[in-house]
Amino acid sequence: MNLTIESVRLTPILVADPPLLNTQGVHQPYTPRLIIEVETADGITGIGETYGDTKYLELAQPFAEKLKGRQASDLNGLFGVADEVAVDASRVSGQVDVGGLRGVQTADKLRLSVVSGFEVACLDALGKALGLPVHTLLGGKVRDAVEYSAYLFYRWAGHPEGVPCEKDDWGAAVDPAGVVEQARKFKERYGFTSFKLKGGVFAPEEEIAAVRALAEAFPGHPLRLDPNGAWSVETSLKVAEELGDVLEYLEDPALGTPAMAEVAARTGVPLATNMCVTTFAEIKEAFTRDAVQVVLSDHHYWGGLRNTQQLAAICRTFGVGVSMHSNTHLGISLAAMTHVASTVPNLHHACDSHYPWQSEDVLTERMTFESGKVAVSDLPGLGVELDHDKLRFLHRRWLDDDGTLKDRDDAAAMRVADPDWTTPPVPRW
Ligand SMILES: [Mg+2]
Repeated sequence: MNLTIESVRLTPILVADPPLLNTQGVHQPYTPRLIIEVETADGITGIGETYGDTKYLELAQPFAEKLKGRQASDLNGLFGVADEVAVDASRVSGQVDVGGLRGVQTADKLRLSVVSGFEVACLDALGKALGLPVHTLLGGKVRDAVEYSAYLFYRWAGHPEGVPCEKDDWGAAVDPAGVVEQARKFKERYGFTSFKLKGGVFAPEEEIAAVRALAEAFPGHPLRLDPNGAWSVETSLKVAEELGDVLEYLEDPALGTPAMAEVAARTGVPLATNMCVTTFAEIKEAFTRDAVQVVLSDHHYWGGLRNTQQLAAICRTFGVGVSMHSNTHLGISLAAMTHVASTVPNLHHACDSHYPWQSEDVLTERMTFESGKVAVSDLPGLGVELDHDKLRFLHRRWLDDDGTLKDRDDAAAMRVADPDWTTPPVPRW
């Protein structure tokens, strides 16, 4: 068996994205992703997926060059390779990363987001070479299916008039009735039984009313609300008090560990985060101050599937819960998320996934949810296959774009509908 990496193909694509609203603005009609193919000397190809914005492509290209001649099994070595790739300082804002609201942008996080795509591709290749599923390479699954939650969004029926886009049949959701209707569709189509609402879009009273309406329509179902740090400590406490009896947890009500710690100290409602604990370096302060009760891992920016397992082990040590964050992603990432989630013993909350919102994919067969769960594949590697025609089609769209969509910018997308829109200051309420 020859696991030497002979070639690496990077294919940036643009995939359709519905007009989902968040505190920064609205999703663009198409969002960038990067598809990674790693081919070994034996002709085995492993696939991976990560963010596709320019700053990631700039890192992925030199990274890919350095991989040639290395072993696909040398997963630990990927981090050393990443350290050798220079990050353009202008790409590191020190501000909250706009696309997906996943904490402060740093050079390390940029690097780890690139590593993750290659790590998944190498694991896929290794699994295919050995005839073993990725979960076996990660130590073995402890469950046969992974539960996901319905990821509810306030949204418009379609993108603004005149914007080229794909259409869908979800309809608008801009009030409690619309949110409940969307949740019903999620339950009918995918069998989800826990619901997360992306908040920070309307005034807290309106979002409280939406969660109340969900609680009434789906009694006993776990509910979550995530305003992406848009609230002050006092507003967070008010929402916690009003919804404490129906929330499974409140996700990033306030921005940053100090604010989260203050909220946590004054409410019994568990707090979850994918914004103040997004790197290993941020764990110590947050856990010492008891600022969060659930960490939402994301293998993309934590640096891969094995780092996700390490994060889960640290959470277990400190009695902190663990679940999974999601950004716009395709089936390769859903497969990767499912493999790693199947190996985490202390996964006690349904994972988030945007996947139902993505009408397009690069797989020969779409991933499916049964009763809100994705079955863990026992096929070699990730257990999914790349459809090269679909990949070419989505890459063509990326090539044809004049540059406006190659970097995700939810505020710019909102300005198409509202020319005066600027990213609101935090806390917004
Ligand atoms: Mg979140």
